[in-house]
Amino acid sequence: MISRSTIQKVNDAADLLDVVGSYIKLKKRGANYLGNCPFHNEKTPSFTVSPSKGIYKCFGCGKAGNVITFVQEHEKLTYPEAITWLAKRYHIEVEETQVSNAEKEQRLIEESLRIINNFATAYFQENLETVEGKAIGLSYFKERGFRKETIDKFQLGYCLEDKDHLARMAIEKGYQKDLLVRAGLVYERNNHLSAIYAGRVTFPIHNQSGRVIGFGARILKSNEKSPKYINTPENEIYSK
Ligand code: ZN
Repeated sequence: MISRSTIQKVNDAADLLDVVGSYIKLKKRGANYLGNCPFHNEKTPSFTVSPSKGIYKCFGCGKAGNVITFVQEHEKLTYPEAITWLAKRYHIEVEETQVSNAEKEQRLIEESLRIINNFATAYFQENLETVEGKAIGLSYFKERGFRKETIDKFQLGYCLEDKDHLARMAIEKGYQKDLLVRAGLVYERNNHLSAIYAGRVTFPIHNQSGRVIGFGARILKSNEKSPKYINTPENEIYSK
């Protein structure tokens, strides 16, 4: 990974006017510069560069951004590639940060848990469309006054009473057993996986960037001895 300080140095050194000016002819117009857009075909210039703000905008095709996005778009590069490209142009040494194996392993687990949670979210949502899901889960949400849009927006769902179903579906799709346990979706007893939220409606818990990191689940049968609400236990991506 490129170090933060390299990215900072590139940001400080990269001059939008200089970079754009090496591709197209720019004319000064007040505080800004104007030229023919390099991203679409035009005869009348509508591509504006503001050197003071460090941003460009095309009033023809709508493309806009800063020096890094310009290089990305124009040279068809990824973000780190654009940083490297600019570093070369401005003679800045690119410093790579070392990622330890433990960190790599940790990131891999976190990413796997996020993927499994996405699978589970979709699975629980689909269950709402089954006969059982409609009769128990959907009718509960409707009683509570939740409309279809709300149910979709909050990705509400339902876990079937058949405790084996979730693990069976997940393993069929190639998800690993230990990650399903780690994600708090199933528990293992005597080599058998059972869904923790069986018979419950599910509410995904999102992190700040909107990704699902766990679930809350409410049981609907009043005669059950188990707690009314349960949550995902703490794991690599979810802490209470
Ligand atoms: Zn344009």
